[in-house]
Amino acid sequence: MMKLLQSQSGASVFQYPLLPQSPLPAQAIDSIGKATLLIDQMIEKKSEVDLSEGDTVQTGQRLAPFQDSAAYAISSVTGKISAIYPYPGDFGKNFTALDIEVAADDMAAPIENLEPTLESLRTYLVNAPGKPPLALLGDPNRPIHTIVVSGVDTDLLVGTHQYAIRTEIDAITKGIEVLKAAAGAEKVAIAVPRDLISGFGHTGADELKAVPPDYPWAQPKLVLYHAFGVEVPAKKTCEDMGYAFFSAESVAAIGKTYLSGHVPVDKIVTLIDKSGQVKVVTARLGTPVGKILQAAGIQTSDRDRLILGGPMTGTALYDEKQVVRADTDAVMVQDAADVSLVSDYSCINCGECVRACPTRIQVNMLVRFLEAGQYEDGAELYDLYSCVDCGLCSYVCVARIPIYQYISLAKYELARVSAVAEASDEQ
Ligand code: SF4
Ligand code: SF4
Repeated sequence: MMKLLQSQSGASVFQYPLLPQSPLPAQAIDSIGKATLLIDQMIEKKSEVDLSEGDTVQTGQRLAPFQDSAAYAISSVTGKISAIYPYPGDFGKNFTALDIEVAADDMAAPIENLEPTLESLRTYLVNAPGKPPLALLGDPNRPIHTIVVSGVDTDLLVGTHQYAIRTEIDAITKGIEVLKAAAGAEKVAIAVPRDLISGFGHTGADELKAVPPDYPWAQPKLVLYHAFGVEVPAKKTCEDMGYAFFSAESVAAIGKTYLSGHVPVDKIVTLIDKSGQVKVVTARLGTPVGKILQAAGIQTSDRDRLILGGPMTGTALYDEKQVVRADTDAVMVQDAADVSLVSDYSCINCGECVRACPTRIQVNMLVRFLEAGQYEDGAELYDLYSCVDCGLCSYVCVARIPIYQYISLAKYELARVSAVAEASDEQ
């Protein structure tokens, strides 16, 4: 399924596969029994929250833990809240979880006072399928002049954004209209796989950009470089350069909301089975991963590895009860026999990671600092901030050092320390 080529430098290069010419309708996963919604705010005591166990909720209803709370969830089902509890996430992020027992009849809650404004978008669509990055818009200190609607998937074998751009074009057209009105951006561009470049003339986008099939060119910084001719300097983001990337699915979710008056609650998920076969499904937000695999006929056994995301940059799941969230684009099952375990071997200076790195970071040197927890020195001396998060270094490392995981942790820690410093400067 994944095609391995050789680049001019001799490094291995994968190609992004295309979905079939006419993608099959996604399999809808239903009869989920219970959904678990996550609110991006930790509660200490359930008695302090405005929601209660036993409350009935409708599909599309906005559920906030407190009146005027900025954090909220949109109920993806109709039913009864059966439990409210703190939910620890990755990298120190904490949530409040709501378990909802699904009722037999699905009742859709309409939205009131929906205007094509940023305020309306933020009130209802922060956790819509595809997770539109609405926080990037409307900041006068970092104006966005171009919104890029991405119909390409950043990891290999994942087809979620590609599926959305090929099957939801009417909703995307409406979403682009709403975003143009709400965000005040000068331009909207669509980025699609090079072989799908035709058929997007009527969407209202100002530009259409072709992304070559070589991995990892669908990473936003590389799309800017290759398709827009814009180089993002180290320590800068695409947003710093005036570009905001929205997945095609998230723009479709915006469009569907304004076309129907209801927030969509079905997430497109690419399932990748043990043989690398790909299947696209839709599932209500909050559906347990185990339910989806079972309904799609994908068997798992002891010591198989479940991965949230694709093969290069996904993260291991420790529990099939973890649920589909707004940004869950893929779930992959890896056979126990294919799991390559990380090791505590030392780097042998083979240089494979440096040859594979698309931004030519001296990864072998960088990883020495990151292994020792010397994040600032590593970032300063060996260009951590030029990393585009492709995971190729980990893939090729003969010593099985989890380089990409070290890099992710270092970026998280440095961002956390900088946020704490900024907050104390403001006090
Ligand atoms: S250092 Fe970053 S950009 Fe380079 S190969 Fe590793 S993950 Fe990719
Ligand atoms: S690929 Fe692994 S062993 Fe080889 S130089 Fe890079 S970190 Fe060291």
